[in-house]
Order: sequence, then structure tokens, then C-alpha cells
Amino acid sequence: MHVLTVKTSSRFEMIDITERIREIVAKERIRDGLCLIFVPHTTAAVTINENADPDVPKDMLDILDRLVPLRGGYRHGEGNAAAHAKASLVGPSEMALIDDNRLVLGTWQGIFFCEFDGPRSRKVFVKTIAAP
Ligand code: ZN
Repeated sequence: MHVLTVKTSSRFEMIDITERIREIVAKERIRDGLCLIFVPHTTAAVTINENADPDVPKDMLDILDRLVPLRGGYRHGEGNAAAHAKASLVGPSEMALIDDNRLVLGTWQGIFFCEFDGPRSRKVFVKTIAAP
């Protein structure tokens, strides 16, 4: 398993980690398989979406903020209930195909680490699995 460290710099942030995942896949020399990307945190997530227009991740953060406002009379005493909810909505993992030793993504797709309660130092676990 590979462990990436992601240092976030604001409370809400989407960080493109596509190239870092591509580097891991290239090193593994798997012709055919899968790549699992897992975020071991309860207030962060990972998603695959457009990384061509930088407004897309900004809009997604705004949309999530409208869906789950920072203050909403939540019970959780730590004060970051919204971040926990966003983390579950987006989810802790993504899986992508590996073909011919390369990560397969659509033309406009990138892999984003999603910070919902930063700034913090975060981890991303990456596991490549060769097809039998
Ligand atoms: Zn909490």
C-alpha cells in the first residue's frame, strides 16, 4: 500500500491528486488491474470529477456548503458536524481501472482529495491490484 500525505491550506478545499496517483500506478508495472484510493479520515473524502475548468471544484464546494451549511443546530460537540456529513456524502474511496500500466480516466476526469475541515495534514491510501 502507498501512503500519500496531502497538506491542505484552508477549511474547504479540493486538491487534484491525479498525477500523484498516476505516478504510483506507473511504478507498480501492472498491465491490467484496479487502483483503490482510500481516505482514512471522517471529515475528508475523495471524488473523481472535471479537472479542466478550475471553477468546477469551486462550484462543488459551494454546492456542498449549500446542502450542508456550517451551522445547522447540529449535536456533535466538536463543531464540525457539517464536515462529517459532507465526507459521507462524497465518500471515502474511489476505484479506477488500470490498463496497459496506466490509470484509465475520462478525458476531463481528475481525482480530487476533498478537505472539509482543514487546514490539516491528511493521508491518502492507494492500493493497486493486478487482475488475475
Ligand atoms: Zn467531529
